[in-house]
Amino acid sequence: MPSAERLRGEPVAAEIRADVRDRVHELGERGVTPTLATVVMSDDPADERFVELKHAACRDLDIASRDVRIDPDAPAERLHQAIDRLCADPAVDGVFVQVPLPDHVALAEVRQRLDPATDIDCLSFTNLGRLVRGDPRYLPATPAAVRRLLTTYEVPIEGEDVAIVGRSEIVGKPLTNLLLRDAPDGNATVTVCHSRTSNLGAVTRQADIVVTAAGVPGLVDGSMLSRGVTVVDVSANRIESGSEGKTQVVGDVDFESAAAVAEAITPVPGGVGPVTLAMLVSNVVLAAERRADAG
Ligand code: NAP
Repeated sequence: MPSAERLRGEPVAAEIRADVRDRVHELGERGVTPTLATVVMSDDPADERFVELKHAACRDLDIASRDVRIDPDAPAERLHQAIDRLCADPAVDGVFVQVPLPDHVALAEVRQRLDPATDIDCLSFTNLGRLVRGDPRYLPATPAAVRRLLTTYEVPIEGEDVAIVGRSEIVGKPLTNLLLRDAPDGNATVTVCHSRTSNLGAVTRQADIVVTAAGVPGLVDGSMLSRGVTVVDVSANRIESGSEGKTQVVGDVDFESAAAVAEAITPVPGGVGPVTLAMLVSNVVLAAERRADAG
């Protein structure tokens, strides 16, 4: 019978949203409405859902938002022009580019173009460099959500062994840098695994905290975890369930077997996802505050 504590995201997200609401109110008194612009160059329904969630979160918090769509078959220049335009617009505080981008569009060029001041998800080379240096301008939303879940539920990070499964530039690598920071909510000893890791279980069994972001349902089960571990499952994999073409969202972790040995575990859905969303809107407000302060 699974006994692990559930690290639910919604109460953590609600705490962040309450803070955001207060800050939006204060900005309103200064005549400032924080504004997010999302840029989507994809026709994947999953991207559509993710972006709509961002706009819904903004509406709920009185943050203005704009939705820029670019045909995924259009030349890369169309995306570049949209980014340049939004970054130069004084009414836009945060610019979020949905990734992955189509194959013919180089992510590196997008990273180069984004203005670090409006790059609220830490995609630009400058903001990534600051994160690596340990001095981030904005915390990337998903890695920040993982850390916030851990700290809110009082899971120690400092001095702990953390195994991160996945080395993507959106989750694994920035999370590594965040947990390595010389701070009480950092200072972890981090091991990063990927598809060529020869014995994944041998690594995860050594860890006090296992974070999975591989996009592979069932990749990690209870036999690959040590008793008392904390498990954070970032992945949101849509799989078919039943015969009527229905789908469900699952993580990388086999929840039942993992919860039987873990001290604490995030549910999927309902773990990292809601916190990520709250972190992103919080960054939009931070960008607006900085812009207002700069006057
Ligand atoms: P990604 O770019 O596809 O990266 C996946 C990573 O997992 C890669 O580093 C890959 O290794 C590694 N991997 C794949 N199979 C593996 C295996 N069998 N053993 C060990 N490592 C393996 O994915 P992503 O963009 O980081 O997203 C990962 C998951 O997180 C997805 O399910 C996505 O939907 C979810 N996600 C959730 C949130 C949220 O806020 N909840 C945000 C972003 C993403 P290689 O580098 O060797 O290929």
